[in-house]
Amino acid sequence: MEMFAKAFTQQEPISEEAIAQAVEVMRSGRLHRYNTVDGEPSETALLEKEFAAYLGVKYSLACASGGYALHIALRAAGVRNGDAVLCNAFTLSPVPGAINNAGGEPALVGTNTDFKIDIVDLRAKAVTSGAHVLLLSHMRGHIADMDAVMEICDEHGIVLIEDCAHTLGARWKGRPSGSFGQIACFSTQSYKHLNSGEGGFLTTSDPDIIASAVLYSGSYMLYEKHPDMPAKEVFSERRLETPNYSGRMDNLRAAILRVQLRSLDENCHRWNELYAVIEQGLRSLAGISLPFRPAYEEFVGSSVQFSLPGWRPQKISSFITECSTRGVDIKWFGDNVPRGYTSRFESWHYLSDQGDLGQTSTILDGLCDLRIPLTFDRKDCQQIVAVITEALLCTEAAHPCL
Ligand SMILES: *Cc1c(COP(=O)(O)O)cnc(C)c1O
Repeated sequence: MEMFAKAFTQQEPISEEAIAQAVEVMRSGRLHRYNTVDGEPSETALLEKEFAAYLGVKYSLACASGGYALHIALRAAGVRNGDAVLCNAFTLSPVPGAINNAGGEPALVGTNTDFKIDIVDLRAKAVTSGAHVLLLSHMRGHIADMDAVMEICDEHGIVLIEDCAHTLGARWKGRPSGSFGQIACFSTQSYKHLNSGEGGFLTTSDPDIIASAVLYSGSYMLYEKHPDMPAKEVFSERRLETPNYSGRMDNLRAAILRVQLRSLDENCHRWNELYAVIEQGLRSLAGISLPFRPAYEEFVGSSVQFSLPGWRPQKISSFITECSTRGVDIKWFGDNVPRGYTSRFESWHYLSDQGDLGQTSTILDGLCDLRIPLTFDRKDCQQIVAVITEALLCTEAAHPCL
């Protein structure tokens, strides 16, 4: 029997260089981002400058988490109590959670067989929902047709917030993911493309939005300590109207992230090499379907998704057991109980009635997901394909028909 022994949840260690930077912050005792001496920039401020430059946007704000960045992005975009907010039906639970936190009502948009937002459904709901914000998740790194998304947003005056939790380092037609919307949010939680345990970013080139976001994040009126901020008047207009939702990043995490950011592109390349091995292996297997990804979707293959279209739930469940017996930990979005990160929209009972999302439910029913941590190498990826091949054969033998 093929066996795989490595953990799908094991990150690479924090580099010695990043550890040294973190130790220096600890030696200084000044871990709070505003605890600086004589106009010296904090690690957090330097990180924000470097992150904005990396993405090619004007402003960036480092936050306590990705979900927190989404929450204040929605607030800064003007979401008020009871407002409908468009978002993907296929996403992770912090996305509808952030909308709820901002007082909004998620209006779910279906997914297509390539796991991207369904443009036809988006076009329809841009009208029927009455929403003036779209929170678009590039879920599991799949980037939708951004030309069509931008056209719909422009036509209906919809503010686009990109959730780039899985697309940091990705591009679409040469443009960085996160540079399309008025706002973009990123996560630096351990399972994303940078690892500070917890953390996130909000980015924008809009002076009004960054001023609101900085105030929401809990600036204690110390906003002048942020790098490259808009004119004072932009802050004075709103500083007394904007609640403090306290969710800053600290210098310790920022110090680690500054070092990691320098190897981000190289790491994305490493992810894609591993992804290619698994993808190529899976494409040769009958019964497994992989999404179509155009060449201009320069994704980061930090996870792989495939589906088993037409399979009964019991058969998929057996297949997943066959894989896990052999050490391959497949996540399944079709499971009717939420496990780990794979909850599906039917499990979010606090949402209002979403109408017919039957096609999306069917797509989720067969959707399998594998993380690809950078602690794997090419041989590991070949081994994973061998396990899946064997698990398919065993499942097929036990359940010969659909
Ligand atoms: C992880 C994630 C988030 C939230 O990030 P946290 O840092 O965990 O709060 C948002 N959206 C998606 C799609 C994610 O995967």
